[in-house]
Amino acid sequence: MKEKIEYLMKLSDKEFGYYIFSHDPIHNKVDEKLKEEIIEKSLECGREVAEGLKIKYGFKNIVEYLKVLDLELCTKDTNSGLEYIYFGTYQKPNKITIYTDNIKLGTDLIEEWDLVRLKNVELQDIVIAHEIFHHFQEHDKSLYINTNKITLWSIGKFKYRSRLVAQDEIAGMAFAKELLELDFSPNVLDVLLLYPHDKDLAIEIYENIINSIPKKI
Ligand SMILES: [Zn+2]
Repeated sequence: MKEKIEYLMKLSDKEFGYYIFSHDPIHNKVDEKLKEEIIEKSLECGREVAEGLKIKYGFKNIVEYLKVLDLELCTKDTNSGLEYIYFGTYQKPNKITIYTDNIKLGTDLIEEWDLVRLKNVELQDIVIAHEIFHHFQEHDKSLYINTNKITLWSIGKFKYRSRLVAQDEIAGMAFAKELLELDFSPNVLDVLLLYPHDKDLAIEIYENIINSIPKKI
């Protein structure tokens, strides 16, 4: 499993983008060319928001960002018992909750497997940064991820258009990476943090990630 995590750390944001995209409920309404464009623009959207923040404040510490953005950070031990394991969540209008025990198990694995590149990053900061993006998503309606919609069907002049939820997650990943200046995609955590809770599922997700990458990129 250590090798699998190291392999994931070599994947590009775009490659992870395809994996996230494949989970969108309406992903099959989008052709390959448009899919690639949406992934690239969502990544750009997340990066731009992070760059804007860094230019404005230039903080080194994620807690300082929480303060200036007037975000409340709430820590809970765990949410296990629920069907889905969460590491962080965002609640409107300005609250982020992180589940510290769930994150700690991932940190322990980094030590145990001696994952050198992950040793000087705080997993918790990555989880918080991702949730900060959802705050921007909620409050800035002009963002690409909020305006880009897909036409699901049309009759005459009437069009039914819907947003792709994958856009938010792709942008959130790029935001966290840019804000924290990481040299790997934060989606590595999808597998790493899940592994202590559910080994089989973590391996399944790893395989889904690999299989969702188109051959030609
Ligand atoms: Zn998210």
